[in-house]
Amino acid sequence: MRDIDSIVITDANFFLREPRGDIFIFPFGKINTKILNHLFKTLRTFYAGLNYQIGIKVEKSLLLDEAYKTGEFYDSDYFIGVLNFINALRNNPEKINIGITEVGVFNGEIDHPRFGVGNHRGGIISTYRFKLEKDSKEKLKERVGKEAIKVLSFAYGLRHCQKEECLLSYHPTVESLDRSLRLCKGCKREFTAAILEYHCL
Ligand SMILES: [Zn+2]
Repeated sequence: MRDIDSIVITDANFFLREPRGDIFIFPFGKINTKILNHLFKTLRTFYAGLNYQIGIKVEKSLLLDEAYKTGEFYDSDYFIGVLNFINALRNNPEKINIGITEVGVFNGEIDHPRFGVGNHRGGIISTYRFKLEKDSKEKLKERVGKEAIKVLSFAYGLRHCQKEECLLSYHPTVESLDRSLRLCKGCKREFTAAILEYHCL
């Protein structure tokens, strides 16, 4: 049964009609509105901190296609594939699509859900592991915000940083993500250069 607020990827006309922006946020399945708002604000604040005016838009949610489910979790390639496909439909190579979902997302190891996965032009944030923690809603939002910046960096082509304290380092656990508060100087510089180049600013 189709969710009235959701669209499917085959609705090509919908994507062609949509107004333009620079960063698009696509919920896959239902996502709490407060989490979505927080994600939006986090990205807006991030770009404002770098002094960039970027158009960010939250899109309608996309249906999760169970065909891409292996065991309990979904393959990250499915999300990235859909997001890249939307970019191709819109003929928008310089735009970034970020997805967010509550389901577990794996990348490689099927039984190991990730906080987020990203590659060129697209990324997916999964709240699955954050929601297993028994911490406050504020903590959940904070973790989603941090992961959003990481996923965004991968969408711009950046890689994991080797400095443990940097937000862009590899975080195997929720605790390690909690410990990283900001980008290191090198990553900030690289991120800024990538944004400039990507959006032809
Ligand atoms: Zn770094």
